[in-house]
Amino acid sequence: MAKGNINVSVENIFPLIKKFLYSDHEIFLRELISNATDATLKLEHLVRIGEAKIETGQPKIEVKINKEDNTLHIIDEGVGMTQDEVKKYINEVAFSGAEEFLEKYKDSDAKETGIIGHFGLGFYSAFMVANKVEIFTKSWKDEPAAHWTCEGTTEFSLEESDRTTRGTEIVLHINDDEKEFLEDARIDELLVKYNKFMPVPIKFGTKEK
Ligand code: ADP
Ligand code: MG
Repeated sequence: MAKGNINVSVENIFPLIKKFLYSDHEIFLRELISNATDATLKLEHLVRIGEAKIETGQPKIEVKINKEDNTLHIIDEGVGMTQDEVKKYINEVAFSGAEEFLEKYKDSDAKETGIIGHFGLGFYSAFMVANKVEIFTKSWKDEPAAHWTCEGTTEFSLEESDRTTRGTEIVLHINDDEKEFLEDARIDELLVKYNKFMPVPIKFGTKEK
């Protein structure tokens, strides 16, 4: 295997995400489902302690493929994020988390030691399979929804969205060379592999968005 000291800096994080983790691309789904699960459980907790006074019903996570648009959607009914939270958690916390992960990964014979199984790359693993990622999200708090878009560069856009349902939808515009992740059988296989013991039910269908 190749070894070296490549400095992870903001400019090269996206190529690194693709390059270093080449054979582990499928873990993006585990990361996104785990975020959706966290968001769902967080909301249930806020309801339980009386901070969020809303009806959650029986929340589920939904995964959808849209073959016409080459998109994969991961949709939850969890806490959601305000625009300020997207700025903080996606643009700052998750981004530096991904940087830190890549720093560790490149030095540590990570593949052999299985580091990837123990520390998640997190949200930015979406860019292993997607050339563009969108987030549509509405917080449980009474605040406008947000729409974040990033095309795998350090630029992003963040604007208000007219989404009215609480929770988050992650839209992955799948790369041409990752088309396997638009196949039902492949997604089914991964959902079984990663989510056997997950606390929130996952619905998977091929309905159009
Ligand atoms: P981690 O899950 O370890 O915190 P991630 O990079 O996976 O790191 O996610 C960063 C943060 O982005 C999460 O902690 C959470 O605050 C926010 N986030 C990501 N996905 C969602 C989601 N589906 N709903 C609400 N918040 C989310
Ligand atoms: Mg996560």
